[in-house]
Amino acid sequence: MYLEGHIHFEDLEFEYGYSCMPDRLQFYTKEENDFRMEVREWCKNHVEPVAEKIDRERNIELAVEILRKMKPYLNIIIPKEVGGLGKGILYRTIFGEELTAFSYALAGIFGASSCLFAGPIIEFGTQEQKKKYLSGIADGTKIGAIGITEPTGGSDAIGGMRLKAIREGDHYVLNGEKCFITNGSVADYICLYAKTNDQVRAHQGISAFIFETNTPGFEVIKEYKHMGRRGMPNSHLRFKDCKVPAANILHRENEGVDVLLFGLDGERTFTASQYLGLARSALEVAYKYAHKRVQFKKPIYSFEGISFKLSEMFMDVELNRMAIAQIARMLDDGYNCRASVAAVKTRIADATVRITQDAVQIAGGLGYSEEYPLERYYRDAKIGQISAGTSEIMRYIITREMIRMWGK
Ligand SMILES: Cc1cc2nc3c(=O)[nH]c(=O)nc-3n(C[C@H](O)[C@H](O)[C@H](O)COP(=O)(O)OP(=O)(O)OC[C@H]3O[C@@H](n4cnc5c(N)ncnc54)[C@H](O)[C@@H]3O)c2cc1C
Repeated sequence: MYLEGHIHFEDLEFEYGYSCMPDRLQFYTKEENDFRMEVREWCKNHVEPVAEKIDRERNIELAVEILRKMKPYLNIIIPKEVGGLGKGILYRTIFGEELTAFSYALAGIFGASSCLFAGPIIEFGTQEQKKKYLSGIADGTKIGAIGITEPTGGSDAIGGMRLKAIREGDHYVLNGEKCFITNGSVADYICLYAKTNDQVRAHQGISAFIFETNTPGFEVIKEYKHMGRRGMPNSHLRFKDCKVPAANILHRENEGVDVLLFGLDGERTFTASQYLGLARSALEVAYKYAHKRVQFKKPIYSFEGISFKLSEMFMDVELNRMAIAQIARMLDDGYNCRASVAAVKTRIADATVRITQDAVQIAGGLGYSEEYPLERYYRDAKIGQISAGTSEIMRYIITREMIRMWGK
């Protein structure tokens, strides 16, 4: 309904990504910028029309349908030898920023399947495992997930792990639970971590498995209803006497922690790029609104109370994008930059909470309403400080890394 005096979202003639065009992104190569623009175009055509609907209706079915259509990019990290694009972390961060600028829920579904499930198999899988489990992920016929967290093991996932896998002949029998598993209720496969030896220190008694969810005894006991990323399945799972073939162990028995820790920095850099995409969209909407909205006979942008908020947003978005790109390149070149990864993930997570909150503030009552996507961004932003390692745990990693780098 058109209401005189309101600045309707349509009035902004909003184009996602206008603040982030190649002519200002000289720290990326032409190929990288071309990739960015290609992904953005794909998202405009396929994600923008459904992003609100996925959120409002918590429409998991629709979100999964779009994921399956994401074929050109589902194989982004899968090596060329196995039919993938074989792109590194930098490309993943460009993709993460662009996709999340349109829908954070979809970015979560994508990340759990194409990165968090596929990543460990690419690195540690046998040729048979790669052939069997990666092709379906790459063409969208199968969906993957990663199962680490349990009710007793969140930040202390390794120390608190209780899911048990006991070897019986040529298979393992699994009993226990996993919680907060993204894609848990729609996944065909889970990269699942379980205790295979409780007589040793936790780090030495965990194994990684490729678990097929059609295994008898597997049950989705709950779908979480989170404040944000609505439409992204996130589930509580139970495993009761589930038989998993010994051939489905990933890497080696009791060496699952190597699998779990491998690639963590790349994943965290990828998640940082997602927060950036969310922050960027909030900034872009708020900026346009501030120029259109007139109060006291002036656009509200002319008031420093508003324009300085936008300047602060610009600082966080611009500098974090540069940091993410640089860190991603260092990771692609094989450098250890764990402290920098933790730093950028925490900084952009905190900034995104602030930016999305300020964006709502700038749009006033409309920002607080479902007329604008800003309330969605605000709800979505909070998870950045919680998942993929909480902001407290990131700070802890930095304190540990400082001692590792410089001594006491
Ligand atoms: C939307 C969503 C998606 C997720 N997806 C997945 C998934 O796909 N797969 C998966 O395995 N897990 C997933 N998780 C789980 C996620 O990784 C955990 O929620 C996260 O690690 C935190 O664990 P917790 O929730 O148990 O919090 P807790 O570990 O109980 O922490 C509670 C609070 O205590 C703080 N805290 C804990 N230890 C310390 C310490 N030593 N010092 C200071 N503060 C501390 C934390 O920072 C936090 O603020 C997801 C979670 C959510 C909400």
